[in-house]
This record gives sequence, C-alpha cells and structure tokens, in this order.
Amino acid sequence: MPIATVNPATGETLTTFDEFDHKEIDSRLARARWAFLDHRKTTYAYRAERMRRAADLLDAERDSIAATMTTEMGKTLAAARAEAAKCAKAMRWYAEHAEELLADEHPSAADIEDSGGTAAFVRYRPLGPVLAVMPWNFPLWQVVRFAAPALMAGNTALLKHASNVPQTALYLEDLFRRAGFPEGCFQTLLVGSAAIEGILRDPRVVAATLTGSEPAGRSVAAIAGDEIKKTVLELGGSDPFVVMPSADVARAAEVAVTARVQNNGQSCIAAKRFIVHADIFEDFAARFTEGMKALRVGDPMEETTDVGPLASKQGRADLERLVDEAVASGATVLCGGERPRHLRAGWFYEPTVLADVTPEMLIHREETFGPVATLYRVDSLGAAIELANDVPFGLSSNAWTEDQEEQERFIRDVEAGGVYFNGMTASHPAMPFGGIKRSGYGRELAGHGIREFCNVTTVWYG
Ligand code: NAP
Repeated sequence: MPIATVNPATGETLTTFDEFDHKEIDSRLARARWAFLDHRKTTYAYRAERMRRAADLLDAERDSIAATMTTEMGKTLAAARAEAAKCAKAMRWYAEHAEELLADEHPSAADIEDSGGTAAFVRYRPLGPVLAVMPWNFPLWQVVRFAAPALMAGNTALLKHASNVPQTALYLEDLFRRAGFPEGCFQTLLVGSAAIEGILRDPRVVAATLTGSEPAGRSVAAIAGDEIKKTVLELGGSDPFVVMPSADVARAAEVAVTARVQNNGQSCIAAKRFIVHADIFEDFAARFTEGMKALRVGDPMEETTDVGPLASKQGRADLERLVDEAVASGATVLCGGERPRHLRAGWFYEPTVLADVTPEMLIHREETFGPVATLYRVDSLGAAIELANDVPFGLSSNAWTEDQEEQERFIRDVEAGGVYFNGMTASHPAMPFGGIKRSGYGRELAGHGIREFCNVTTVWYG
C-alpha cells in the first residue's frame, strides 16, 4: 500500500510520501532508545507540563488538523473536530493522573513480615521504546490514547500509522516536539507494514501495541511472541445492541442510528448487530429504519453531512460483498443496500438496515466496517445473549433495559470487554477499554492502560 493521502470523497491522490529507508529507520530507533534513557529519569511534573502544552496546541489547531483528517480518511468535519477535542482531554487527564496511577504500592505489614523482609513496595517503571501500529479510522485518537499514557509513564513511542493517514501521522510527531518533549520521545515512521517485522525484532524496541484488523494483530503478536515482547491488541468488533421491552424504544432507536453510523460506520465499538425483543421489534425496526433513511450522505467537509464516504475503495468493496451475499441468501433490505445514486465519485455507501439475517450468512459473523446494520428478533433475554455471543469478537456491548435482574444477567453472561446500558459505547480516559476473544487483549486508558507498558518492579528489603 503506497503511503499517500487519497481523498475518499473524490478518489483523488493528493500527496504521496517515500517510505523511510533502513538507514533512516535505524537512526530513529537509536534516537528512541537514547531519548528513553533520559526521559525515564524526568519527573511526572516535567512530563505533565509538556503533555498539557500538547493539549493546548491541539485545541488551538483543532480546525486545521480536523480538515486534514477529513481529507485523508473521510470522517465528517464535525466528527474530526470532536476527535481532536477528545484527544486534548485525554492528554490533560493523563497529565493530571499519571503520577497517582503509577504511585508505589505497599503490601501490608503482615505480608512483608511473612515474606521475611523488613520493608517492600511495588514500583511502576517504564519499559522503553514501544512500537504503535495504528489504524486510520480515528487517526488522532487511536494514537493519543496510547501515546499520552506511554509518554507520561516515561516510555518513548514509535508510530507506524496506517499508510493512508501520513499527514496526520506527521502532525502528531510535530505536535509532541513543539510541546517540548525532547527529540526522539515520539517519532513517526513512514513505513509500510512489511517493515514492521524488522523494527519489532530490533532489540531497541521493547514492546508493541496494535489497533487494527485481526490479520495485522495476529502477525504483530506472532513476531512479538517470538521475541518475547509484550503486546496489547485492540482488534475488530461486532458489538451487539440489545433492546428489551422495558426500554425507551424511541430513544433506543435514535441512539442506535448514531451508534451504528458514527465515523461513517467505521468504528470498532460501533453497534453493528441490533437484537430486539419481539414485543417491541416492529416499533424499533420502523423508527430505526426511518432514522437511517433520514441521514444525509455526502461531502464530509459540508456541515450538513451526517455520513461521509468509506475510507478506501477496498473498504467499500468488502462491505458490498457482505451485503450482496446476505441479500442473495435471503436477507431483507429495509433501507439502503447500495451506493448512493447522487454521488458518482468517492467511496460512498447508503446507510443500510438488513433483517432476516441467518447464521449461514457471512454478515452474521464478520465485522461490517461501514454504515450497515443487521437486525434480529428474539423472544427472551437468554436468546438475545446467546446471539450477542455468537461471533468471534468480544469488544463491547450495549443493552437497553430498565430491569435490574436483566442488567445483572447481561453483565454476568455477555462475552465482551464492556457493557453499556441505555446508551452507546464510548471510550473515556478514566475507563479501561479493550476486548476479549478475537477483539484482542490488554487494555487501554485508565490505570489499566498506563500500566500495560510498565515494568512492575518488586522492591524488597531484608
Ligand atoms: P489494518 O488493515 O489492520 O491496519 C491497521 C494497521 O496495521 C495499519 O498501520 C496497517 O498498515 C497495519 N497492518 C496491516 N496489515 C498488517 C500486517 N499484516 N502486519 C502488520 N501490520 C499490518 O486495519 P484498518 O483497516 O486500518 O482498521 C480497521 C480495523 O481496525 C477494524 O477491524 C477495526 O475494528 C479495528 N479497530 C479496532 C479498534 C479497537 O480499539 N479495538 C479501534 C479501531 C479500529 P498499512 O496501512 O500500511 O497497511
């Protein structure tokens, strides 16, 4: 895949970049290592001051970086601005909380005595340069939710961003440098995925985090496993959105539309499968379909646009393949199901709702990365949970019910890293984020995220 900015709304290639050669990669890895040797000795206050400055710069530059993101991957300008604001918030959150999250931990006096020691504590020390392999869908956020805690913990970061968002990737390096982080603390590597193995096997790189697809995760984790290096994987999702009779159906249908089409439908935590109790199915289906139909598909730079193009031609082709196969196998199209007729250029797709989906269809098990929803009718919460769990993924989940017993049962039985009631899944710096099953392992955000790339050190005195 060439490293290039290609506008998904027009299909036009705007800028291309040469990949770094071996020499350039080598000098950047050396810089990441040297920078780490100094950065690990700095105080939390020193790091926090720079992290806050990065947040201030990002706030000031929100409109221009939002336009860059929209141009590179097609999210609406409003969504891009919101993403930039969210990044600044996460930077400030870690600036404020890193020190307490990584404070020494003290075993009880009785346990210390039992160990035969006179004193003991646990210290979180940084690990070193961490490679971050990142996707294009939230080109700022995915990076910042790794980089803010990593830099605050005293690690250094090497970003291999998706090949279609090079300008956003370069902006991030520039942002952290201007914020005052010393040379080498955060670097962007303009390389394709073929270069990852060499970088990951280099002894100067100590760990990796990957957000992206299953094949990419598998490949990076296999190499890292071979090198005995820690990884965090944030992979795909096919989150369920369960609606039970006690729910506010009108509100659930309204939120369902946003939950499905946020980021033009290309979000790992978008609700993708809508599992609705029979008693309210017709009502929900009608409202949800109306909401999806009412969305304006078009130029993502226009303030009135709700849904922009998919980020790549291949992404749209993958989505079309899933919809077409389902329809050929008997699924009912409640709306959409094709490209918008009024938009000839670009990689647009109509917001789509499919009913009568069966387990034999590919769309039942695969992730739909675009504005396509599948709708299922169930007779009980048990059946809803069974269906919710009937995918290889386990990222997050949504359930709409006011019934406390149903809520407890859902928490107990759903196979996912998150359970969100009467709302949609959204990440927040204070709440851990990540999945189980094929959605990956490890957690980002909160204390769990910052501790992933730390050396949890036991200090003991005899
Ligand atoms: P992708 O194709 O896997 O790309 C992600 C990153 O991995 C890019 O930097 C890509 O580089 C690199 N890559 C691709 N193939 C690779 C390989 N075989 N070995 C090593 N690296 C490789 O994924 P995407 O299409 O950008 O993103 C969509 C996927 O990400 C969806 O499945 C989505 O659910 C998932 N996602 C998950 C989360 C989460 O938090 N769980 C968040 C967002 C997205 P190139 O661009 O150079 O190919």
